[in-house]
Amino acid sequence: MTLSTTSPARLAELREETRAAYDALVARGLALDLTRGKPSPAQLDLSTPMLDLGGAELGPAGAGADHRNYGGLAGLVELRRIFAGVLRVPVEQLLALGNSSLALMHDTLAHAALFGVPGSERPWSAGRTAVLCPVPGYDRHFALCEKLGFEMIPVAMRDDGPDMDAVERIAAADPEVRAIWCVPTYANPTGAVYGEETVRRLAALDAAAPDFRILWDDAYAVHHLTDEPAQAPDVLARCAEHGHPDRPLVYGSTSKITFAGAGVAFFGASRTNVEWLTGHLALRTIGPDKLNQLRHALFLRDADGLRAHMDAHRALLRPRFDLVGRVLRERLGGLGVATWSEPRGGYFVSLDVPDGCARRTVELAAGAGIRLTPAGATFPYGTDPRDRNIRIAPTYPALDDLEQAMEGLAVCVLLAALERNAAAPSRIV
Ligand code: PMP
Repeated sequence: MTLSTTSPARLAELREETRAAYDALVARGLALDLTRGKPSPAQLDLSTPMLDLGGAELGPAGAGADHRNYGGLAGLVELRRIFAGVLRVPVEQLLALGNSSLALMHDTLAHAALFGVPGSERPWSAGRTAVLCPVPGYDRHFALCEKLGFEMIPVAMRDDGPDMDAVERIAAADPEVRAIWCVPTYANPTGAVYGEETVRRLAALDAAAPDFRILWDDAYAVHHLTDEPAQAPDVLARCAEHGHPDRPLVYGSTSKITFAGAGVAFFGASRTNVEWLTGHLALRTIGPDKLNQLRHALFLRDADGLRAHMDAHRALLRPRFDLVGRVLRERLGGLGVATWSEPRGGYFVSLDVPDGCARRTVELAAGAGIRLTPAGATFPYGTDPRDRNIRIAPTYPALDDLEQAMEGLAVCVLLAALERNAAAPSRIV
C-alpha cells in the first residue's frame, strides 16, 4: 500500500492514527540526539590504551629525533607510512599534522584565497571564485566556502560520485570555477563510493581554470561496514596520468579511528602542492604534536594493525546501521514516503522524504525530543531546493536510544507526509 493509492477516507484515518502516535511520542519526553557523526564512548574506549604508549620511546633515541622538541613539520614518517597506502599518497608526499583534517582544508582554502595555489593567476578571493558542491554533501565544507566568499554551485550526487556531465559542462565553461568537493569513500551523507570512471573524468576534466583543484576529503577511507571494503580510485595517479598532477588535494584523519579531536590529520598532494602548503604552514607552526603521532604509530603499528582496529569499530557500528535500516524498512517501507541510503561504510544514512517535508519532519522530531541535523544542512547555504533530505547520524547513541529515536523519526516522517498530502494530495508519489 502506498499513500498515493490509498483512499482519501483511509488517508484521513491514517492521519488521525499517526497524529495520536505522535502525541504519545511527545508525551514520553524523550531527549535523543541524532545530529552529528561522533564515535560512541565504546568506540573511544578501543583507543584508550594508546594513551599509555610512547613514554619508553621518547628522548634523543632512535633515528636521533627527539619527539619532545620542535621540528619535523612533515610529521612522523612511521605514522605517514601506515596511512600512505590507505590514502593512496606516496609517503614522501604525505604530511601528518594537526588534529583535524577540516582545519587543513580551512588552511588550504584560506591560503588559496589570500595567495592562490600553484598555477593560479590571482588569489582566489581577488574576484569571483566558485566551487562545485555535490549534493547532498557535508555541511562544514559548505560553511567553509560560504565564510570565504566562494560561490557554491550544487551538482547532483549519484551512486558513484557527482553528475560528471554537469561537472564537465560547468568547469569547462567557467574559468572561475576553481574546485570541487569530493568525499570519495562512503560520502557524507549518502555513503556513495566514487567509481573509476568518475575519477578518470575528474582527472581528465578540461577545466577552464588553470588552477582547478579536487578537494579530496577521504575522511572515511577505512570505515567499512561490510566484508567487501570499498577503495576509492587513486586520484593522484589518475590526475598525473592525465597531465594534471597538481589537481588533487587529499585529506584524511584519525578522528574516527582513534579520538575525535585528539587524532592526527593528513594532507597529501603533488610535491609542488606539498611545498606550497608547507611553505605557508611553516609560518603558522614550528611543527606538529609528534608525541601524539608517536602514540598513534605505536598503537596502530601497520596496515594490518589499522585494519584490525577498524574491524573492532565495525563490530560496534554495524548493529546501529542495521537497526536504522530495519526500522525504516518496517515502518516506512512500501508506503512511498521515503527512500534512504544503505551505506557500506562511513557514518551516515541519507533519508529522502517527500518534497517539502524535510523541515516539517525535523520540526516534528524536535517537538518530540529527537534532535536531527537541520533540514537543508546537506546543501549549500542550508537550502535544500526540494526540502526533502535528512541526514541521520546513528553512531553515537546507545542502541536502545537509537531504536527509540528511529521509531520516533518514522512517526514524524509519516505525519509530515500525511499533513502534506492533506494540503496537496498529488504531492506524494
Ligand atoms: N570530512 C568529512 C567528510 C567529515 O564527515 C568529517 C567529520 N564529520 C570531517 C571531515 C572532520 O574531520 P576532522 O575531525 O579530521 O576535522
